Amino acid sequence: MSAAELLSGSIQEAAAALDDRTVSSLELTQAALARVAETDGRLGAFLAVTPERALDAARASDARRARGDARGPLDGVPVALKDIFLTQGVPTTAGSRILEGYVPPYDATVVERLQAAGAVSLGKLNMDEFAMGSSNENSAYKPCHNPWDLARTPGGSSGGSAAAVAARQVFGTLGTDTGGSIREPAAFCGVVGVKPTYGRVSRFGVIAFASSLDQPGPFGKTVADAALLLGAVAGHDPRDATSSTRPVDDYLAGLEGGAAGLRVGVPREWFQEGLEPGVERAVRGALAAYERLGAKLVEVSLPHAKYAVAAYYLIAPAEASSNLARYDGVRYGLRAKASALKEMYAETREQGFGPEPKRRIMLGTYALSAGYYDAYYLRAQKVRTLIRRDFDEAFARCDVVAGPVTPTAAFRLGEKVDDPLQMYLADIYTIPCNLAALPGLSLPCGLHEGQGLPVGLQLVGRPFDEATLLRAARALEREQGPLPAPAGV
Ligand code: GLN
Repeated sequence: MSAAELLSGSIQEAAAALDDRTVSSLELTQAALARVAETDGRLGAFLAVTPERALDAARASDARRARGDARGPLDGVPVALKDIFLTQGVPTTAGSRILEGYVPPYDATVVERLQAAGAVSLGKLNMDEFAMGSSNENSAYKPCHNPWDLARTPGGSSGGSAAAVAARQVFGTLGTDTGGSIREPAAFCGVVGVKPTYGRVSRFGVIAFASSLDQPGPFGKTVADAALLLGAVAGHDPRDATSSTRPVDDYLAGLEGGAAGLRVGVPREWFQEGLEPGVERAVRGALAAYERLGAKLVEVSLPHAKYAVAAYYLIAPAEASSNLARYDGVRYGLRAKASALKEMYAETREQGFGPEPKRRIMLGTYALSAGYYDAYYLRAQKVRTLIRRDFDEAFARCDVVAGPVTPTAAFRLGEKVDDPLQMYLADIYTIPCNLAALPGLSLPCGLHEGQGLPVGLQLVGRPFDEATLLRAARALEREQGPLPAPAGV
């Protein structure tokens, strides 16, 4: 197989070809860079491509392999990173003008870990500004398009991360998920995305949006690829105080264990009004497939999940308003010209932040202000506890919770951009999992009958039980077979 053909396959296939020397990392990286050059003008997945660095890393990987020092299946494999991860010496913007020109002095832990595994980064991926959005349209730089239909959004906020994998530009990517930003774009682009348990993957060097919710995770074309990437980046990091010390499971070891005997919880509230019929059909098809595989469907209830979006839009903006206070024109990126210090702060923030971060800063500051704290923020935190309890009760009766990722398939660019509330509702099924700090996964479960667009199945697991999620996802993936490659690019 040629390097260009290998790009359509899995990481495991690429790793096998690298190991038996039918391809070099240099050839694979050149093929990926050529694919980016050929497609990204239309797709817009990358904010920055770093070819020199990539080619150097590929040569170093080939040299290791020649010495018999290859570091495992990711060594020499082209990947890319959401532009929210700090990369030493490579501009990092979080999709915002306020970080234009900012070059981080160190790498995020996940970046270090991917590098240590030998992965070759091609550059930084497009995203909604500060990860606020569900369509990538809040990127201050350019829109990203869905490789299945360029008139549609790839989802967000990790739109570039999902689109780059779906369009076969790279084998895998990292994104972050605060309220659905890995799972929603994975569903819209027909790839696998994993939002790990809060604390499973280090947030050190990840530009903060809502610190009690943010969690990095992988995208891959297959469940095994996502498992491989997750295994490479997961695990304790003393530089992130919320990072868990629990040992990381071997996600590949149990992957082929099948779904026989698995109890799949189906929340009754997730199949009500608002779920588009074409999405429901595909999701129900997946649930029926689980039954054929020997799993048992059990109805569960998440009675408080309907308050998740409301609670999230208090908690996340509250944390964001505090996190974004650091962008004052002094320490990072943009600095507006002004004659006095206070004016410089104000002018930098006025020019540097786009409309969505400004909206969130105002919402968050209001929710935290004296006199309103109890009514809003504190109450939202209580709702969060209730949602977590709903899941605890569900998990007394099932091993994974399954349902839709999104109410619709990928919507059109421009369709919701003027209606923040409609945009927020795109995350109605993904946000409960973040509020409860649980692991969630999005897996393609077929194409929408009318639209020909991918539909995602969401699986939510017990805390730190990513292994069961991945095994369950793999069982369905094997049963269904792969989606065709997207025709849009
Ligand atoms: N769409 C949600 C928001 O705008 C979630 C974003 C995310 O997960 N980063 O906040």
